[in-house]
Amino acid sequence: MHNGVHKEATAVSNSIKTILSDLETRNSGQPEFLQAVREVLTSLEPVVERFPKYSEMKVLERFVEPERVIMFRVSWVDDDGEIQVNRGYRVQMNSAIGPYKGGLRFHPSVYLGLLKFLAFEQVFKNSLTTLPMGGAKGGSDFDPKGKSDGEVRRFCQGFMTELYRHIGQFTDVPAGDIGVGSREIGFLFGQYKRIANQFTGVITGKGINWGGSEIRPEATGYGVVYFAEEMLATRSEDLAGKRCLVSGSGNVAQYTVEKLIDLGAKPLTLSDSDGFILDPDGIDADKLAYVLELKNLRRGRISEYAERFPRASFTSAGHGASNPLWSVPADCAFPSATQNEVSGVDAQNLVANGVQLVAEGANMPTTPEGVERLMSAKVLYGPGKAANAGGVAVSGLEMTQDIEHLSWTREQVDDRLRHIMRAIHTNVRAAAEEYDRPGDYVLGANIAGFVKVADAMLEQSTV
Ligand code: NDP
Repeated sequence: MHNGVHKEATAVSNSIKTILSDLETRNSGQPEFLQAVREVLTSLEPVVERFPKYSEMKVLERFVEPERVIMFRVSWVDDDGEIQVNRGYRVQMNSAIGPYKGGLRFHPSVYLGLLKFLAFEQVFKNSLTTLPMGGAKGGSDFDPKGKSDGEVRRFCQGFMTELYRHIGQFTDVPAGDIGVGSREIGFLFGQYKRIANQFTGVITGKGINWGGSEIRPEATGYGVVYFAEEMLATRSEDLAGKRCLVSGSGNVAQYTVEKLIDLGAKPLTLSDSDGFILDPDGIDADKLAYVLELKNLRRGRISEYAERFPRASFTSAGHGASNPLWSVPADCAFPSATQNEVSGVDAQNLVANGVQLVAEGANMPTTPEGVERLMSAKVLYGPGKAANAGGVAVSGLEMTQDIEHLSWTREQVDDRLRHIMRAIHTNVRAAAEEYDRPGDYVLGANIAGFVKVADAMLEQSTV
């Protein structure tokens, strides 16, 4: 390397190290946020070297500080008449390229650091979709599991009674995530409308008869599979006949399996926090219909699949450093449950058992050690912020339809989703190539997502 260039590289690397160490001091106790930022900032080194304006204008320092954080109390009354208290949040991370947009998560593990990681990732993801959306995330430590419909409704109404003043169709448009599906979106929207006295597209994932979009429930899962197809095509392969591992059994997992079946692949597994099922014959359309009824209507557990289909087995979740789901011999893997569900050991097992592609339906499901192992084994690795962007992309299309008071057909929305996933794939690969790292989807996604937002921030001055 030329001496001057080398000096510049070292200076950038040192300045990123300083930003990261300051961040650790200011955000101790938020490991997921620090993990997400570390991964992104490290891969942005070459772009910051090439364009000193980003350092001079403190763009990275601004990127890692949310524009606004809202934290509030949600009190509600359970079925026994007891008052319950939960914490609600909205992290409005970045609005440089559009109104804040990102899901709501209801899960006992939710705290500020988790939502900051998700909001940070969302900024890059939304930028990659090609649509004008800023990034946010919100939610609560409320656990909908085991709660009655009435309890969930009262909680959602309490949550929205505070959140409503901070959101709006041109300000911040939430959506679903873990624990927030069509039932919760209905309760939340209904309460917003009641308080604001406005019927607007303030939330996405709505029912089809009241402003929702076709394909929104399917979008994340379908999009992940479209992205996987694009990745495989670079090696002149397709999904037909491929044995696939899918984790989770919620929204993303369900529609990932549906699209895999459509394309002739053979999905073998599904899971929830109790463990996973392995169906050696493959999950077909009829079995998937059973899963949808089990999980979405009866709110049952995935272990019941093995009782209904005796050739399938159920394995309880362990607590070790590895999850046996990722040791099942297969060609492709689609982690679709939660963050850090694929450890370094799991990644090693995936590689050892033949996996050539990992496309992330969940956000940050692979630990840094896992990512390292997959990439050094030359596995096609599609990080969540690129591979699962189809969900928010169709949410963006829902916002457009709401504003136009029009509904597009299933075919129209699916066609747009395909185009968007293809464009994300092309842009990510192009960015990786531009920076001499062909095939590096991590670097490509981070750089392509960053540049658009960073340039918008520069043009808008010191905001
Ligand atoms: P759902 O609530 O519909 O399903 C989540 C699934 O993951 C359930 O099977 C759940 O099992 C399992 N799960 C959740 N937390 C854990 C955990 N800590 N350990 C083990 N299993 C767990 O959520 P989604 O399908 O919507 O979301 C799944 C992932 O996809 C998340 O990472 C989310 O951020 C991401 N994502 C979702 C999008 C969307 O449009 N919905 C868009 C982009 C990304 P159990 O029932 O036992 O909790």
